[in-house]
Amino acid sequence: MLFRSCTPEIWEKYKDQKSTGAAKWTIARAINTGIMYPHSFVGCHAGDAEAWDEFKDFYYPVIEAYHKGFSMEVGSQLQGTAAERMDPARIGEALSGAAKSKIVSTRIRIARNLTGFPLNPGGTGESRSEICNLLQKVYDGIEDQDLRGDMFRHDTMSNEQRQALIDGHQMFRGCDKMQAASGYHVDWPIGRGVFHNPDKSFVNWINEGDHIRIIAMGMGSDVKGIFSTLSAGTGAVSDGLKKLGPVGEEGGKYFGMEPFQMHPKFGAITCCPSNLGTGMRGSVHICIPKLIKAWGFKKIDTECRKRMCQARGSSGEHSAVVDRVGISNWRRIGIPEYMLLQDMINCVNWIVTEEDKLGGGK
Ligand code: ADP
Ligand code: MG
Repeated sequence: MLFRSCTPEIWEKYKDQKSTGAAKWTIARAINTGIMYPHSFVGCHAGDAEAWDEFKDFYYPVIEAYHKGFSMEVGSQLQGTAAERMDPARIGEALSGAAKSKIVSTRIRIARNLTGFPLNPGGTGESRSEICNLLQKVYDGIEDQDLRGDMFRHDTMSNEQRQALIDGHQMFRGCDKMQAASGYHVDWPIGRGVFHNPDKSFVNWINEGDHIRIIAMGMGSDVKGIFSTLSAGTGAVSDGLKKLGPVGEEGGKYFGMEPFQMHPKFGAITCCPSNLGTGMRGSVHICIPKLIKAWGFKKIDTECRKRMCQARGSSGEHSAVVDRVGISNWRRIGIPEYMLLQDMINCVNWIVTEEDKLGGGK
């Protein structure tokens, strides 16, 4: 684990406490992943929004350890809305030509959770189904031709359809032992699904870990174009939730309200400390075969971490490196979304110069 925040003193302090939120979250459930998999990078989760503050002597140090440079005391000083900060024109760095030639694909996602529900580690079959039904209405109402598409539920899609989406990197795999330990897979596959437009450039995950992952992706390295799709897509989902109707009527939960759970200190609330804040992870899949051979994955990741980025395997977190490596921003709180992409771009440009320094052809 990155940081051992659950000391014997903290355990004693919180061991009999339950959160006041819907999950009645406990410290034992919070640390289950770290207990079962001590080498996990973070190892703890929250089951409802209230837990983050009610177990603050445990969670706050973890948040500060992960999001280097962020202080809970000071809080996030980000100005404006996520949509305003997701303006592609504000990205002040560009990928080098050498980087572009090695990038296979680009993906940017944000994690969000709907107000009024427990976070999924503390959720139930009912809460997941309700969220899924609500989002179905939102997707049915999207009018933008570039974004509209269909939602597919995990419990009704065919195995071939599921595998094709997993192979295309549009679908979560499930069956992850660390995620299972956190409570992500409870009542699987109830309430899980994926939404995508026909060309799969705008994708949403429903109830994987967080309630929604809003994703924009595509082949190649068009970071700005993909950021623009993410911004428009986030607006469409948020507006759709707000338009559902007056409170009290069916589906009318978010009339005049912020539909996404927000925290006054860090921004978007998520179930894993790593995603709090902007909830944004922007990545490229890149082919760097010489570095994979010369350095191995671990050193690539260590070097990326020095540059506020991280490396992942060819099929996402906890997967093996087959041919490509995923490189993405590591921090997520207190830094505007467009700057997080600059972190990623700078790290990718750097790693490509390292790749090209190694001799021996392609
Ligand atoms: P998340 O942070 O959204 O949970 P994961 O690391 O679990 O991401 O990866 C989720 C899926 O997205 C995997 O199938 C992974 O291969 C895919 N993915 C991640 N980055 C990219 C990218 N740049 N291009 C294509 N697919 C990607
Ligand atoms: Mg993940």
